Amino acid sequence: VSTHPTAETWESLDPQDWESLQALGHRMLDDMFEHLMNSRERPVWQPMPDEVRRTFRAPLPREGRPAEAVYQSFVDTVLPYNMGNDHPRFWGWVMGNGTPLGMLSDMLAAGLNPNMGGGDHAAVEVERQVIDWCKAMLDWPETASGLLVSGGSVANLIGLTVARNARADFDVRHDGLMAGRPQFTLYVSAQQHSSVERAAEILGIGSNALRMIPVDDAFRIDVQALESQIQADIEMGMRPIGLIGCAGTTNTGAVDPLDALADIAEKYELWFHIDGAFGALAYLAPGGRAKLRGLERADSLAFDLHKWFYLPFEIGCTLVKDADAHRRTFSAHPDYLEKKTRGVASGEIWFGDYGIQLTRGFRALKAWMAFQTYGVERVGRVIGQNLRQAAYLGHNVEARPTLELLAPVDLNVVCFRFVDPAVEDAELNDFNEELLIRLQESGTAVPSSTILKGRFALRCAITNHRSRDEDFDILLDAVEATGKRMLDEGWRPPGQEAGG
Ligand SMILES: *Cc1c(COP(=O)(O)O)cnc(C)c1O
Repeated sequence: VSTHPTAETWESLDPQDWESLQALGHRMLDDMFEHLMNSRERPVWQPMPDEVRRTFRAPLPREGRPAEAVYQSFVDTVLPYNMGNDHPRFWGWVMGNGTPLGMLSDMLAAGLNPNMGGGDHAAVEVERQVIDWCKAMLDWPETASGLLVSGGSVANLIGLTVARNARADFDVRHDGLMAGRPQFTLYVSAQQHSSVERAAEILGIGSNALRMIPVDDAFRIDVQALESQIQADIEMGMRPIGLIGCAGTTNTGAVDPLDALADIAEKYELWFHIDGAFGALAYLAPGGRAKLRGLERADSLAFDLHKWFYLPFEIGCTLVKDADAHRRTFSAHPDYLEKKTRGVASGEIWFGDYGIQLTRGFRALKAWMAFQTYGVERVGRVIGQNLRQAAYLGHNVEARPTLELLAPVDLNVVCFRFVDPAVEDAELNDFNEELLIRLQESGTAVPSSTILKGRFALRCAITNHRSRDEDFDILLDAVEATGKRMLDEGWRPPGQEAGG
């Protein structure tokens, strides 16, 4: 019996009939263009019916079925029940829309499928170029290092890992954070994004040692309280190592006084990291730069390209001023990854040396194509448009007596609620939560929510290149109409419903 593979047993996952898959591919492309062109015509979001949901509980497919049939399942069960962030009236959390060009770029990237961990190939040059352009657009030095990552959460983790290792006076990689060493502390505003806290936990510093500093009325870090906390920690024998500035908080879009934070970081020799997940991109907008003074003084900066640069998920970036500290934190070259001077395993920069992942996807391509196709001026104008829309929305909230603005509008986040004398103060939170859910279920618009000083807020974070001014009128009309309908229905808080 021959042990050689034979023509009869050989198979690959390429199509047996390339032409029919090609035809299907063209149909998919046409359908997705259609989908994107008509985003305005659909409800933003709609709940998935039970019979559709049941189709996602199918047993493991042992044998295949035609790609055409699988695609039909996608058309029937996935496409109509999408999250909705491609819609002009989606402003929940902080989400970009993606772009048609980004969709095409992701297809090209998946088609080539290079591994971005390292080596000498064109895709590595693409990422290198994109990082250089990121530095240039934010006026960061050319000598800084950078890495494209999945998003702001990992971008923060990368920056703070470099911070920990660079500020330790021992070899953290080798020794770990052993008992007997002083306790490291980090500092951030109480309005921090949860990914900063999670980074402190992952890094073994602990969330208790991430000091959450109170904020002022505009939700910016209180610099005096910060300095008092640092001094108190030093007196207690702690080792302050890092300060995190928020350039655009998730809750309200507040920007910390970055210049003042940079001064404090210098004074106490702290690593200064900025979480600019979406806010840093305001730098590109006319008038945005002035809001971000001090951005250039950070040791590391985290930002997303899938929020306010509108690229498809996932793409974020970390920049680090001290490129050596960055590489020393992550580089690893076991025998099977030995760098060569020639061949595929050569190449100057191995991105695997600058982060957690070895195998990495070609997310750089969509940024490379976007930078060249739009130019940063155009992206900056659209970001500026979102800034103006946030001001417009905030202004109109204040102009309507049934609505109350709950935080100053500094960047692109607007927090507000419905108020009416018929609803008692203590019931406003439940009232607005129900209002928000009804609004989402109606498919008219999708804000999300937050709690500000104990008050439930409808929250719009405007990182949407499809929104027009009238979309915000539609939103406020719908909020008022929904609130009035609830009053007419005699709404009562949960547990106190009439007859309940
Ligand atoms: C969204 C966000 C993050 C996390 O970014 P992801 O891309 O979701 O991982 C971190 N910080 C802030 C301020 C954010 O808005």
